[in-house]
Amino acid sequence: MKMNSFYPLFGGVRHYAWGETASAGTVPYIANLLGVDAGTEPWAELWLGAHPSLPSEVVVDGSRRQLGELIAAQPIDWLGKAAASAVEPPQLPFLFKVLACSHPLSIQSHPDEASAKRLHVTKPQLYPDANDKTEIMIALEPFEALAGFRNLQMIRRDLAAVAAFAPLLAAWQNGADADSLKGLCAALFAMEDAPRQAMLAAALAEVTASGHKRNPAEELFVRLSAEYPGDRGTFFAFLLNQITLQPGQALFLAPNTPHAYQRGAGIECMTNSDNVIRAGLTPKAVDVETLMATLHFQAEGAMLLEPERISCGAGEVERYVLPTPKFQLAFYRDAPCSVDELGDGIGIFLVVSGRVALSVDGKQVAEAGRGTAWVRPAALRNAMVTPLEPGTLVAWAMPNF
Ligand SMILES: [Zn+2]
Repeated sequence: MKMNSFYPLFGGVRHYAWGETASAGTVPYIANLLGVDAGTEPWAELWLGAHPSLPSEVVVDGSRRQLGELIAAQPIDWLGKAAASAVEPPQLPFLFKVLACSHPLSIQSHPDEASAKRLHVTKPQLYPDANDKTEIMIALEPFEALAGFRNLQMIRRDLAAVAAFAPLLAAWQNGADADSLKGLCAALFAMEDAPRQAMLAAALAEVTASGHKRNPAEELFVRLSAEYPGDRGTFFAFLLNQITLQPGQALFLAPNTPHAYQRGAGIECMTNSDNVIRAGLTPKAVDVETLMATLHFQAEGAMLLEPERISCGAGEVERYVLPTPKFQLAFYRDAPCSVDELGDGIGIFLVVSGRVALSVDGKQVAEAGRGTAWVRPAALRNAMVTPLEPGTLVAWAMPNF
């Protein structure tokens, strides 16, 4: 087929338990975005991409086809030359999502390329693909997350303030990696279930005792314990940075960085992978061996990724460039977008708010409203996405080879 237009893209929705559920006066972000009735299910993620576990569909010549199949049939026309030759077999190198949560996700990290290849062979039931996973979260509303290890001195100070942790601290100091984050995590993971649960229950009783003034780590520990009592993930309240993103702010997560999203809605984009190494706050399997072998046990500095801002007419383009060529993002706020400026590569875009006109060779071919997603095949040139009303935000994901 000749790819000379934009094509509507229909993503799948994940209804994970940590998603947002309709309640008095509030509609889940994703159901609201898509303009559909939320029902009683939790709404967690909208997937726009070609990952085999939830592939999106594209309408071409009046029929719905999977994006991945279309790409496989005409890789250069869809992906562009550079992206088509970067991965074998040719495939969409990224997965674009809207994520919304009102409960904490599991504490997790994602593998780098070498670990992903190895894990997919040795533990395929836990690691469904052989791809590394680098991820970015751009807030659409205030978004709370835990990410990266805190400074070791601060961790030690906060743990020492809770008497129930004394035996764990002693085990840490007498262990192989005393005075390191790795040694502390090893001591935690080495504890049997019963003594660990008893320790966490005693710690909870201590920090919730009347008259005890809680610090932010303790506040979080209490909150996580209410949802996951006795889970070792609650201990990570003392270990990880608490970050609140404002709309437009982005959190960049390199492979092997511990994190857990807490609350809010945002655009998430990642390399095309669903590999999650879990550490806690989950009924799913926790892979201690892989965590201890792969986590970056060091305090993280600034993890916020500042976009490059380009003013454009009455609006602005915010470009989020990452240290991987597999994807980049661009937010067009009240700004027209010429696909020729985006370069020779596939683009997926979502109308987050407002309305746009899609035109090819100077002629309008469609109007696109809030919540609609589209694909721009690499072969499409001389085409525009133009805002039709103030407050229009279009989020693009595309490769950066
Ligand atoms: Zn993640």
